Amino acid sequence: MALNLGDLTLEELTSYMKSMGEGAFRGKQIFEWISRGAESLDDCTNLSKALREKLGQSAEICLPTVRRKLVSRIDGTVKYLFGLSDGNAIETVVMSYHHGYSVCISSQVGCRMGCTFCASTLGGLVRGLAPNEMTGQIIAVQKDLGIRISNIVIMGIGEPFDNYDNVVKFLKIVNDPAGLGIGWRHITLSTCGLADKICRFSGEGIPINLALSLHAPDDSLRREMMPVAKAYTIAETLAACDEYFEKTGRRVTFEYALSEKNGNPAQAAALVRLLRDRNCHVNLIPVNPVRERDYVRTGKESVAAFAEYLNKNGVNATVRRELGGDISASCGQLRNGEI
Ligand code: SAH
Repeated sequence: MALNLGDLTLEELTSYMKSMGEGAFRGKQIFEWISRGAESLDDCTNLSKALREKLGQSAEICLPTVRRKLVSRIDGTVKYLFGLSDGNAIETVVMSYHHGYSVCISSQVGCRMGCTFCASTLGGLVRGLAPNEMTGQIIAVQKDLGIRISNIVIMGIGEPFDNYDNVVKFLKIVNDPAGLGIGWRHITLSTCGLADKICRFSGEGIPINLALSLHAPDDSLRREMMPVAKAYTIAETLAACDEYFEKTGRRVTFEYALSEKNGNPAQAAALVRLLRDRNCHVNLIPVNPVRERDYVRTGKESVAAFAEYLNKNGVNATVRRELGGDISASCGQLRNGEI
């Protein structure tokens, strides 16, 4: 199988070119071509034809292809279904904010975490995405829309920490100033709470924003909603988040999808008890409809009351703005195909 050059960091690409008997600067040239949207080695026009042919014997460059593109009539959010080189597909969402464009990328084809409110896990896991398929989503939307992405959220299909090595590699590639150059503070990774991986990630020297999908204030409800809670208790998960905060100085965000299951006043009080002594932020997400699931959103007033209770009791909380509702581009609605 050919080596995909988009899976290499600048350093690795440089040594690869040296091993091919080429000057080190060739590595940087190719790295730049990839982040500017080259779809094949032939697009790298400052490499000689002979060099492109030599490289082509063992290596390749590719970009996801747009299989379908939907634009929200409500807020302009764009959702892509991208085709990958092995025929699989994933979804990516582009949102426009006053501070720039933000892209929500997928980290896996499908997901095996089994959260009972989420569409992405319905067909199970197919495979993790390679680093080039994660950067490729960003590069392809920049190229298609003629924009520059300023923020990345790894909140699309998949559990990023279930594809740990590739996600860490992707983060290093996307942060490199020779490529997309997106700063750590402009990147957010959301995890369902693989606590051992959170601890490991704390030591990587990658101080991005961490979001933890909490969704319940007690272990028994969380186990009912999220199978991962059978592997790690809330206490263990929060301890891992505390370690992340201590090592990186980045305040952790807790996501809480509000429904009739977890949105009553007693549950708000339990959530306050869990979080009030932490320097954190709660992001409330009125649960989004997924046709195979039976979660029911609580009304606007009770969402506002839940948020107000948290804020009044020392837990900083905001309600996440719903974007792309008419094109099923909201949290938990992304899928692997046109279904
Ligand atoms: N696997 C990662 C990223 C996935 S989704 C994780 O679990 O964090 C990003 C966020 O959307 C998560 O907080 C997820 O729990 C939430 N989510 C999933 N389904 C949802 C739904 N139907 N309504 C609202 N939020 C949902």
